Amino acid sequence: MIQNAISETLKAIEMEDQFGAHNYHPLPVVLAKGEGVFVWDVEGKKYFDFLSAYSAVNQGHCHPKIINALIEQAKTLTLTSRAFYNNRLGEAEKFICEYFGYDKVLMMNSGAEANETAIKLARKWGYTKKGIPSEKAIIVAVERNFHGRTMGIISASTDPDSRNNFGPFLPGFQIIAYDDVAALERALQNPNVCGFWVEPIQGEAGVFVPGSGYLKKAEELCKKYNVLLMMDEIQTGIGRTGKLLASDHENVKPDMLILGKALSGGVYPVSAVLCRDEIMLTIKPGEHGSTFGGNPIAAAVTVASLKVIKEEGLTENAAKMGELFRDRMNTLKSKSSHVTLVRGKGLLNAIVIKPTNDGRTAWDVCVNLMHNGLLAKPTHGDIIRFAPPLVIDEKQLNECCDIIEKTILEF
Ligand code: PLP
Repeated sequence: MIQNAISETLKAIEMEDQFGAHNYHPLPVVLAKGEGVFVWDVEGKKYFDFLSAYSAVNQGHCHPKIINALIEQAKTLTLTSRAFYNNRLGEAEKFICEYFGYDKVLMMNSGAEANETAIKLARKWGYTKKGIPSEKAIIVAVERNFHGRTMGIISASTDPDSRNNFGPFLPGFQIIAYDDVAALERALQNPNVCGFWVEPIQGEAGVFVPGSGYLKKAEELCKKYNVLLMMDEIQTGIGRTGKLLASDHENVKPDMLILGKALSGGVYPVSAVLCRDEIMLTIKPGEHGSTFGGNPIAAAVTVASLKVIKEEGLTENAAKMGELFRDRMNTLKSKSSHVTLVRGKGLLNAIVIKPTNDGRTAWDVCVNLMHNGLLAKPTHGDIIRFAPPLVIDEKQLNECCDIIEKTILEF
């Protein structure tokens, strides 16, 4: 039996290796089932999921209310395209706009598409409202950003892995340092700047939290220079950082709010851009869209997912569990010379690992964590991000901290 299961693991890995593109480097675990904070592999071994599909599964794996919404809608009507109206989209749009406090929403599928939409909206607004001369619009982005993988987005990336051998790139981006108010003010003085595009915490880069006041200052500067604040909350939004949006920590209201991932509880690809009428209505029929964007399943799943966040107090739980988690990790840091830094907000956290003298790294820590029943993934070599589903309770969190502590002290 065990022999069979192990060969099932190897079979699945080898099949992906042979027939799939090699564009990821997964941990060697093959998952077959998920429920709440747990996932199970094909051998039946149970793990705590401490990645949550990069914060898409904030509501926990296979949340029954979200899955029911998916099944009911899938049995009724799945896709009409936007050539016709459907009876679910309008009510979902109203729900989303009221939930986040914006005039209008444009629904897409992946996070990258939502960011592409935001770029187009910012440029369109720049030309038609701010009066930027044709083809001269500039969007200011920051070092170490991560907004997705499309050509437009990687044109603003500073990560060599994202860019090498993919040029030529899209013009119209200026890159400045993150968390640098003076650099931002210098950049925004250029009258051709239409948008400042930023993550409130840089998740993919390794959970970099800007200094307190940075986002508020960015909002003020954007207002002063008539530039749109484009906030990518795809990883940080929807309860993850202990507020509904990470921008809420500084009472910042972006001109454009970019969402994805947990908007659907990880059940279906849904993303969205929200903004005021003045911005959204610059795009006219035929100028932007997507066959699947705003389809009836996406609409039903999104409403269910957002309701779960409020009904189950997941944002408040993230704030509380996050405090406990960082306390435990800081205690661990005082006991282990391999943990050099702990940072994060709510349940979006990271620790920085000092490699051993014999060259073992954060990757090896993650492999050991996996053997001990917890799944997490290193990023940029020495950083491990910890982002469990927001449904985690105190007992489970302490059990996870015990696993992390044991693994690192043995490292
Ligand atoms: N923006 C941020 C902040 C992200 O973290 C990600 C994905 O990790 C994206 C955009 C891209 O989303 P997707 O992979 O759905 O295109």
